[in-house]
Amino acid sequence: SLNERLSGLFDRLSGRGVLSEKDVDEALREVRVALLEADVALPVVRKFMDKARELATGEAIIKAVKPADQVVKIVYDGLIDMLGGEEPEPLNLAAVPPVVILMAGLQGSGKTTTSAKLALRLSKFDRKKVMMASLDTRRPAAMEQLKLLGDQVGVEVLPIVAGQSAVEITRRALQSAKLQGFDVLILDTAGRTTLDETLMNEAAEIAKISSPTETFLVADSLTGQDAVRTAEAFHARLPLTGLILTRADGDARGGAMLSMRATTGLPIKFLGAGEKIEALDVFDAKRIAGRILGQGDVVALVEKAAQELDAAKAEQMAKKLSKGQFDLNDLADQLTQMQKMGGMSGIMGLLPGVQKIKKQISDLDMSDKMFARQVAIISSMTKLERKKPDLLNASRKRRVAAGAGVDVAEINRLLKQHRQMADAFKMMARNTGGRGGGMGAM
Ligand code: GDP
Ligand code: MG
Repeated sequence: SLNERLSGLFDRLSGRGVLSEKDVDEALREVRVALLEADVALPVVRKFMDKARELATGEAIIKAVKPADQVVKIVYDGLIDMLGGEEPEPLNLAAVPPVVILMAGLQGSGKTTTSAKLALRLSKFDRKKVMMASLDTRRPAAMEQLKLLGDQVGVEVLPIVAGQSAVEITRRALQSAKLQGFDVLILDTAGRTTLDETLMNEAAEIAKISSPTETFLVADSLTGQDAVRTAEAFHARLPLTGLILTRADGDARGGAMLSMRATTGLPIKFLGAGEKIEALDVFDAKRIAGRILGQGDVVALVEKAAQELDAAKAEQMAKKLSKGQFDLNDLADQLTQMQKMGGMSGIMGLLPGVQKIKKQISDLDMSDKMFARQVAIISSMTKLERKKPDLLNASRKRRVAAGAGVDVAEINRLLKQHRQMADAFKMMARNTGGRGGGMGAM
């Protein structure tokens, strides 16, 4: 299994001093085989390997971190990136109500169940007034099924009228939802056992009439490579906006998810995680990356690696600070980190000894735009000026100001702030016994 392969690999790597380029390549060769075994499509594996190599090459080797841990982290980050990033893509409801959500997919993929799951979520958590309508004209039982599910979750279902076409039902549903003031209308389309033209044309026509904000392909993640082909075929004919993968509760490998996301470029927005009506999860790339790598132990390893990386950086910074070294390069680094961490106020709370120095920095304007401008100013300086800010005389300041497109007054403000921070950090280093406190949190 992938898990066994990777653990074997990591066992071999651990205990070595520094990760060489050869190590990375060797490791990635193993990862490649492992991904293929996890049912990830070949072109996707290739793409992933390029990405991982890119990430690995850019990353400085940190001696304090075990090489194996560093490789795990690179692979894990690469997987998350390829699965769509850490932040889940929100459901798009930005339209004049009734906002339409269209569910497409093969028969048995879980469209009807997922429609009800989504309806429950929207009505219960988002307090939306939701209506569902079944467009499955071929199977009366399917309409009944949606009606029953609607009753179960307490969501309105468009009354069934015999003999209407899917397009006619769509028009009626739109009209009815509009007149009755519904926020969201979920359209559950008919599925076929295989892809066919009639099905595609009908779905395309319904999409045209109803202008959905979301057109989801509901696909069974257990069907692996078939699901990938289905996704491609649907995407070629329907303007899909996202994927919902069902039976994720039975998919231990997660390889198809990676393939589908990478092949279609469509975000996976939800996972069906069981037959129960509550079993719908917002897609979480971190969790799936962990699953692909082989469950919790790897995730724990990754977390440890991240901590070690932070600790190593913190130690470097602490050393500089305790020597009273905090030049403008460091300031630029810190500003960039601060931007990532949600600004000064968020960070100051993490630092020990912060109450003592709070007054000194309370007058600093730390808005995000300000951060970006300050970083621009610092990058307009020469290397030497960043190391020795005292060199910045009037003419040098004018040059930097012109380069960064700001006033000289702003340069003076930045230099004053830098002096204040350097002093504050020096003081903090003394207060915390010269260890520099929690700078690593930055
Ligand atoms: P449709 O033909 O696409 O509308 O599919 P249905 O919604 O009728 O679902 C077909 C079967 O799959 C039903 O028995 C559902 O209970 C089951 N099902 C749907 N989603 C999931 C899921 O996420 N996990 C599991 N285990 N079963 C599911
Ligand atoms: Mg159905």
